[in-house]
Amino acid sequence: MSNRIEIVENIMGANDRLALDNRTRLNASRTFGINFMASPGAGKTSLIEQTVPALKDKFAIGAVDGDIATTIDADRAAAAGAAAVQINTGGECHLDAVMLRQALNQLDLNSLDLLIVENVGNLICPASFALGTHKNILIASIPEGDDKPYKYPNIYRGLDVLVINKIDLLPYIPFQMEYFTKGVEMLNPGLKTFPLSCQSGEGIPEWTTWLEEQVNAFKENTPSP
Ligand code: MG
Ligand code: ZN
Repeated sequence: MSNRIEIVENIMGANDRLALDNRTRLNASRTFGINFMASPGAGKTSLIEQTVPALKDKFAIGAVDGDIATTIDADRAAAAGAAAVQINTGGECHLDAVMLRQALNQLDLNSLDLLIVENVGNLICPASFALGTHKNILIASIPEGDDKPYKYPNIYRGLDVLVINKIDLLPYIPFQMEYFTKGVEMLNPGLKTFPLSCQSGEGIPEWTTWLEEQVNAFKENTPSP
């Protein structure tokens, strides 16, 4: 029992050190990195498809897509205008700092202002593996149900930003926003939240405006080496 705990702690310690290396590389190249986490089908790739065209005249954008087996998401990110790299996790259900490092090696980081990392669709282990990105962002969605903060508290606790996608479906699904928000507030008080729909476009400008401000603030505060 205690051996197992020790091994887990060693793995997490090694991952955290590599995540710090990734952060150092992103800072050195003045690339703002965000980590999109979500359950499968919540709309990570769809949000990339909305975000990249809105900001690509202002910033050079890269995308790293973690997927168990296919290149479907990376192809969509590339079609939207991002420099896209696919990480096939070979069955692993989350990205870790080593996988992100391998992806960073394939990108011309110095030429990028913004890097969007699309984690594997999963609400459990991505929360435990720091990648070194600057912001952890969860994309929740209305069809998943309003009980998810109560059932998956760890991922909500570690978030910097919450996106609630598919709000166009609210009239058709018994999703109590008040109950959902109460659960989020218990775990992560004052969490910055963007309700939006990648389908209708509602709420997308608020999200992209916020992200643009974040990238600009990061650039101002991160001196050229
Ligand atoms: Mg996807
Ligand atoms: Zn996993």
